[in-house]
Amino acid sequence: MKIFNTLSRQKEEFVPLEEGKVRMYVCGPTVYNLIHIGNARPMIIFDTVRRYFAYKGFAVDYVSNFTDVDDKIIAKANEEGVSSEEISERYIAECKKDMEGLNVLPASVHPRATEEIDGMIHMIDALIDKGFAYRADDGTVYYRTRQFKDYGKLSHKNIDDLEAGHRDINVTGELKEDPLDFVLWKPKKEGEPYWESPWSEGRPGWHIECSVMSKRYLGDQIDIHAGGEDLIFPHHENEIAQSEAANGVPFANYWMHNAFLNIDHKKMSKSLGNFFTVRDISEKYDLQVLRFFMLSAHYRSPLNFSDELMEAAKSGLERITTCAEKMRFVGKQAAADAMTQEEEALYAQTDRFVAKFEEAMEDDFNTADAIAAVFELVRFINQNIEGATRTFAEQLYDRLHTLCEVLGIVIEKEEELLDDAIEALIEERQQARKDKNFARADEIRDQLLQQGIQLKDTREGVQWTRV
Ligand code: AMP
Ligand code: ZN
Repeated sequence: MKIFNTLSRQKEEFVPLEEGKVRMYVCGPTVYNLIHIGNARPMIIFDTVRRYFAYKGFAVDYVSNFTDVDDKIIAKANEEGVSSEEISERYIAECKKDMEGLNVLPASVHPRATEEIDGMIHMIDALIDKGFAYRADDGTVYYRTRQFKDYGKLSHKNIDDLEAGHRDINVTGELKEDPLDFVLWKPKKEGEPYWESPWSEGRPGWHIECSVMSKRYLGDQIDIHAGGEDLIFPHHENEIAQSEAANGVPFANYWMHNAFLNIDHKKMSKSLGNFFTVRDISEKYDLQVLRFFMLSAHYRSPLNFSDELMEAAKSGLERITTCAEKMRFVGKQAAADAMTQEEEALYAQTDRFVAKFEEAMEDDFNTADAIAAVFELVRFINQNIEGATRTFAEQLYDRLHTLCEVLGIVIEKEEELLDDAIEALIEERQQARKDKNFARADEIRDQLLQQGIQLKDTREGVQWTRV
């Protein structure tokens, strides 16, 4: 499997730190507003990367944080006259709703910066001990950038050029030893949330959060660190400086960055005001369409959002779901069960679409080509499905289903999902009765009735009908 590594600016063969395992950290959003569809791009892309690793049999530890302390959160809290926690709680919940709609799997852990302050103080302390950080008189702690010899290795910037750039910036009032130094800890201002620390009552800088959360949940060394390309500098460069200086080992082996989602060929961003939230899009489209749209381009290519492309994604997706529906229908109507010899031969031919799909994904997660392979499979199925036996229809369905699942595209019909949910509730009700928890059993029966499902207890078991 090849991954384009921002560190080397090359595609490299993926070799995990530990066989069969992937440790992956993806920088998550700052939660002060509904996420926009630009923020959704890394979520969808790296969720797909994760799904592909899982499909290949890797155990994936996937960590993605919420930055829940930040100037913008504080500003929003002041604007509304509520606490910062109220703002971050609200938008974490909203973000999770959007992720669910986009079929982005929950991370193994979603750490929140405010719950990891001890770890941050600990790492800052270690950096001070090692001479990589210092406290200024006002209680700010800075990272001593020049002390880290590899500074610039990710963004391929030369530290002397950076210094020249920084000289133009007015840094009066800051007590830095060097304009390149960046903040690890900053003292509170009036009315801001703060934590006790050895240096001042204050809060951590943004970069230290990710170094600490990654270390805590994944260890000193990880396989993949990812985010949007705007994070390469300074955020990820600074994370490397912090983590490698503190831990004494290379931080992440592969750095992956998605290109921007643009609108009118400009980066979609909250500050420019040229954005659509995921919620806006959900009013017009099923969010599956948005996911499919994002995957229709390579993640390292800029993608321009437009109605035409969304419509194209919608009809592409429909081609797949219509095929799936037809297969289900044919499977149910089939006169014969077992595959014919001819069907066995046809089925074997579908290996090549799977191979093509995998080849595309192994080439730095080329989802555009992977989707092309799915379309080829759909075409093949459409040509061969008439009069299929039940097994043939089911096996073709499984093939399509497996590939779509890697992409996070759902092809089951909603009604069938619903059926599964009903069965699960019925099972839970049976268990509740066995446990003599009749209150819960009745609650489930009433809940189902409200959703138009009537249960009938018969000697053969529980039967249900839609009423
Ligand atoms: P933020 O909340 O701004 O820190 O962003 C959260 C994630 O979304 C980061 O990985 C950003 O790089 C990414 N991101 C923000 N805007 C865009 C965009 N227009 N296109 C792609 N990724 C973006
Ligand atoms: Zn980060």
